Amino acid sequence: MSSRGKSWKEIAPAGVCSKSSTTFLTGDWKTYLPLRDLEKCTRCLLCVIFCPDGAIHWKPEKADIEFDYSFCKGCGICANECPTKAITMKLEKE
Ligand code: SF4
Ligand code: SF4
Repeated sequence: MSSRGKSWKEIAPAGVCSKSSTTFLTGDWKTYLPLRDLEKCTRCLLCVIFCPDGAIHWKPEKADIEFDYSFCKGCGICANECPTKAITMKLEKE
């Protein structure tokens, strides 16, 4: 049945995750893994901004970024947006 014309109170509840997003590790969804070429990376932080899963973090103590593969879903957006093509997507099994 279409939900068009109904208020949110009238729509049947859908699946709701039982855990908070910080404890629900989504990294095992991925097929492709982003790998960074340290020589090509200029630490511009565009990948940090574009990652929809917040899986790339700026680490001030290292003056560098770090991938959190526990949350990375392998979407490839970081690789597409990287201006220096420092990120390549590899099949995780490789
Ligand atoms: S977008 Fe590319 S160059 Fe910029 S920080 Fe990320 S990997 Fe490095
Ligand atoms: S592949 Fe997607 S989810 Fe993983 S770090 Fe890049 S932008 Fe984030």
